Amino acid sequence: MRSLDDLLAEGVSGRRVLVRADLNVPVDKSTRAITDDGRIRASLPTLQALRDAGARVVVAAHLGRPKGAPDPQFSLAPVAERLGELLGVTVPLAADVAGDDAQAKAATLGDGDVLLLENVRFEAAETSKDDAERGALADRLAALADVYVDDAFGAVHRKHASVFDVAQRLPHVAGRLVARELDVLTRLTQDPQRPYVVVLGGSKVSDKLAVIEALLPKVDRLLVGGGMCFTFLAAQGHGVGKSLLEEDQVETCRRLLAEAGDRIVLPLDVVCAPEFSAEASTTTVTVEAIPGEQLGLDVGPRTVELFGATLGDARTVFWNGPMGVFELAPFQAGTRGVAEAVGAVDGLSVVGGGDSAAAVRQLGLDEAAYGHISTGGGASLEYLEGRELPGLAVLAD
Ligand code: ADP
Ligand code: MG
Repeated sequence: MRSLDDLLAEGVSGRRVLVRADLNVPVDKSTRAITDDGRIRASLPTLQALRDAGARVVVAAHLGRPKGAPDPQFSLAPVAERLGELLGVTVPLAADVAGDDAQAKAATLGDGDVLLLENVRFEAAETSKDDAERGALADRLAALADVYVDDAFGAVHRKHASVFDVAQRLPHVAGRLVARELDVLTRLTQDPQRPYVVVLGGSKVSDKLAVIEALLPKVDRLLVGGGMCFTFLAAQGHGVGKSLLEEDQVETCRRLLAEAGDRIVLPLDVVCAPEFSAEASTTTVTVEAIPGEQLGLDVGPRTVELFGATLGDARTVFWNGPMGVFELAPFQAGTRGVAEAVGAVDGLSVVGGGDSAAAVRQLGLDEAAYGHISTGGGASLEYLEGRELPGLAVLAD
């Protein structure tokens, strides 16, 4: 896999460089304000290096899940503005992805200039299962540049036109962010220092069961919190009230507990409320006593203590998924406590997942306490599962 430094050594002054970046930041629905610009910041090293070297930079990115057609709600306009502020230069936004306006604006770029294309998912072809459809969009994207840099780590597990097909059409290298993420993931998978502890939370068990299966033989401890713990608690025979529960996964969780129960650590207590609301009155109960009419929305203090103690002697930690609904103040303590314990680990600590990374920042925790905060949840989980990621495979040759 060729690196950005290889490309810079070749010289990029005056060359048109298409960068696929991951600028998929959370945006407030009503104000359209960016609530966490972590992914934009993470894309700066590659963009800045290319500007400094005199490249004419065309950036492709997606935002949210528009339905394959232009939708102002998912416009990259706020991202163009923030990217411009951070780079200290005006970043114009093309009105389309790779149409007339994109071509016209790309043609006027001077050395060191940066153009942002409109949300690539405004084109249905971007995510199409049909190779020819994706290929046609990739042709148009490739026509905007002489060389392709993939820096969108959060999208490398997708076989999308701007991630996969375009790399087949242009000379290609991995950007700085992709290189850094890969470096850390390699350290997690190749002979990690032990004890190796994985902490999983978040909302959907079914999304993460495959990674649990793949990781269980490799880890010393797997701590499970967040919404996904209730399917495991149900598998142990506990009533979980109205908490998140994936009935069809209970059997799989039961099998995992039977096979590797000694390595799976579940919560001892949970913070419950009658409704999903910041105003609801909360009660903390043991996992044996979750009231039938309530939802578990955070792990309790005894769980934080247990998870903290389990993390105490860890030398390698991977954490994905908040321990509770950290977006609401009454349910933040579990995520805060476990995040602090992960940050205090004497060794390599990696935070993976968009919401987990956002939680670290929103709770005001020290980002520097972590060895690495990954920008890609799905991508890092699939990598740890041992799956081939299309966006990386295509860079390899
Ligand atoms: P990541 O993006 O870090 O991979 P996920 O997307 O899997 O994490 O999950 C994040 C979401 O999980 C958050 O929005 C959080 O509110 C939610 N969550 C955590 N605990 C619970 C719970 N007990 N009940 C419902 N939702 C939860
Ligand atoms: Mg998420």
